[in-house]
Amino acid sequence: MSTAARAPRIIRLEPIEPSIHFRPIRKSVHAACFAIFVALPFFDVMRFDIPRQRFYFAGQALWINEFAIIFFALMFLMFVIAGAAMLYGRIYCGYMCPQMIFSEASTSVQRALERFVERKLVFVRGAARHRVAAALWLLVVAAASVGLAFIFISYFVEPRDLLRRLLRVDVSTAAGVAGAATTLVTFLDFAFVRQRFCTTVCPYGYLQGMLADEGTLLVKYDDPDRICIECGKCVRVCEMGIDIRDSPDQIECIHCGDCVDACADIMGRLGRRGLIHYASGRQGAKRLVFIFVLLFYASGLAVAMSMRQPVLVKIAPDRSRLFWVEQGEIRNHFRMTLANRTTENAFVTLSIDGLNGARLVAADNPIRLAGGQEWRGEFAIAAPPTLGAGINPFRLVTRTDPGGAEDRLSMTFVMPTSQEGR
Ligand code: SF4
Ligand code: SF4
Repeated sequence: MSTAARAPRIIRLEPIEPSIHFRPIRKSVHAACFAIFVALPFFDVMRFDIPRQRFYFAGQALWINEFAIIFFALMFLMFVIAGAAMLYGRIYCGYMCPQMIFSEASTSVQRALERFVERKLVFVRGAARHRVAAALWLLVVAAASVGLAFIFISYFVEPRDLLRRLLRVDVSTAAGVAGAATTLVTFLDFAFVRQRFCTTVCPYGYLQGMLADEGTLLVKYDDPDRICIECGKCVRVCEMGIDIRDSPDQIECIHCGDCVDACADIMGRLGRRGLIHYASGRQGAKRLVFIFVLLFYASGLAVAMSMRQPVLVKIAPDRSRLFWVEQGEIRNHFRMTLANRTTENAFVTLSIDGLNGARLVAADNPIRLAGGQEWRGEFAIAAPPTLGAGINPFRLVTRTDPGGAEDRLSMTFVMPTSQEGR
């Protein structure tokens, strides 16, 4: 048996390239979400116009009194968000939440500026360089805050109107004050608070904790063979400052997947698969109920939208005076409210059906309504004295153009009951 010392055996490791990197996907989703965040108010996809009291949804201008549609739309959106929390945990936070998108952007800009100043001001002392980088970064955050606040307030005030106010530096009206306050809050948020907001006051984080079940998607550390090399990269890359190895149920975890990428890279170099993964359990029964509720609100919204009248016509008899006699005719008085919920001109024409010899006494017929106009008015119906005494049912026909939609409203015409009243 040879006694010569044996050379240490070198084990050659075949690196494994991770099959997927979540960070680039996440950054693409961030860009898409930012575009949607900007587009929603500018193209009236979703916007609450407070000065005009309109709720813009899917390009339709809903009036505040169209309560059913607004209710179903808000409930549907609320359940979509809650459903996403149940199925995918805090993945919304990591991939789609504006707070996270802008917090990460703020951190990235800060680091990029520090590197830039480090490179360009080599002749300046370290502390001064640091101060220059910090001042530049605060300037960038301040400028970005004006833009972000503008987009946010656009959800409540018409964007062109808001731009005019911004150019006039209007801080006297409610919209101006709201814009200035939002700019300040946005600046403080993305300069100093950033991800701390997610771990302290964010209501979605708490909601997610309540909605999660055994099927909710998680980021999980799984190391049954105890091969973790304790490199700590998963902790260093975590923007939320946690160690996912402690537990997959930490409320701070926003399921961004950065630690999944980090571990896959490190362990891949050693020829092993990463130890951190996205994982979800079996489907809980709770989510079936949830899908039914979501379908209920989606159907309610679809029905309410399909029943929507572009031009609202409301007519009611004025019974403060049952009838009166004028020019040998008996007259009844009616009040009318019209609301053109479209952006185009509309015409409403009234006619009488089932009241022999009666005629309409109105200042205008058809009535012209500009887009978005609300109109209140009155008219009378005059009937010959030969009409039957007492209550005469008839129909008031309203025709709306363009479109030619007709509505037949059941009404009554009151005639005097005695010959003396005529
Ligand atoms: S633990 Fe991982 S998934 Fe969770 S926030 Fe940190 S980096 Fe993202
Ligand atoms: S990155 Fe992976 S190997 Fe490194 S400490 Fe984290 S879990 Fe362990």
